[in-house]
Amino acid sequence: MRELTYVARHSVEWREAPDPKLRSDQEAIVAPVAATSCDVDSAILAGHGFIDPPFALGHECVARVVDIGDAVTSVVPGELVVVPWSINCGDCEHCRSGLTAHCTAVPHMAMYGAPIGGSWGGLFSDLVRVPYADAMLVPLPEGLDPVAMASASDNWSLSWRLVAPHLKARPGARVLVVARGSIGLYVCDIARALGASSVLYVDPDPEHRALARSYGASTAASIEPMPHAFDLAVEATGRVDQLALAVKSLAPEGICESAGNHFRPGELPLLDMYLTGVTLRVARDNVRNHIPDALELAASGKVAPERVVSHVIDWEQLPDALPGKHLKPVFVRDTTPPSTAG
Ligand SMILES: [Zn+2]
Ligand SMILES: [Zn+2]
Repeated sequence: MRELTYVARHSVEWREAPDPKLRSDQEAIVAPVAATSCDVDSAILAGHGFIDPPFALGHECVARVVDIGDAVTSVVPGELVVVPWSINCGDCEHCRSGLTAHCTAVPHMAMYGAPIGGSWGGLFSDLVRVPYADAMLVPLPEGLDPVAMASASDNWSLSWRLVAPHLKARPGARVLVVARGSIGLYVCDIARALGASSVLYVDPDPEHRALARSYGASTAASIEPMPHAFDLAVEATGRVDQLALAVKSLAPEGICESAGNHFRPGELPLLDMYLTGVTLRVARDNVRNHIPDALELAASGKVAPERVVSHVIDWEQLPDALPGKHLKPVFVRDTTPPSTAG
């Protein structure tokens, strides 16, 4: 089988690898049918990552189950599933308490698409081994489009977590979104659907701003700090100066959620934050824990994540098309289920 491999700045290629095999009765083999790039993949492709190539890329996809171990009970061959970006066992103390990105049964940062905690391959591969099928895989609900939900592995479900719990606690909150890619747009969609009284989306890209307006947000290419203007701020730029802008715009006891990946250092206005009373969270997302909630919202009809999909491209075009500058390209291939589908 082939793995799409990041080989150098702006360059990926297919590399042959052995077909993955079941190594225990808890595992599954899946075939991605709709895979997309996470916002951080753009930074990696631009050479801003911290792991040297080559490595297999990709950690967002909907896949079809090809084979399962004898102990797997939650999915069957032929079924469409969301594959979470991080590897988690479901059984250790961290997994049981919802900290699925901090599973202790695997090396720290075990994930698809970057060999930080061991090598697990990438989701732009023809086949993928899932080491804990029952703990990790989430069946795609009936009626949801794999193309629109390819990002449920990470960015869509992360976006749900960045705003949904806060809007539940603070109905009608005023929301600031400072962003550069798909996460900020998903956040606009989810924030308006869940009752934010206003959403301001800040991004220099005019096409991104047009999408944000389609979700009911007002937009700006850039802003100066707006002290005390927002109850909740979401920063998804990977830039510390933009994170500083977000925290400086919060109301007293405001909350800032950051999508992280600040590969370059910078300074935060800690005295301002202290005087305002700011809660800042910069955390890798325990995504497996809330994929079901994020899918449920997607199935409710209150949101339109499909609008963020910028291109639908044939799987075979991955090496040529992925390095291009796309908001959210989804790579697809024939998803005919095997005859054993249940
Ligand atoms: Zn990601
Ligand atoms: Zn675990």
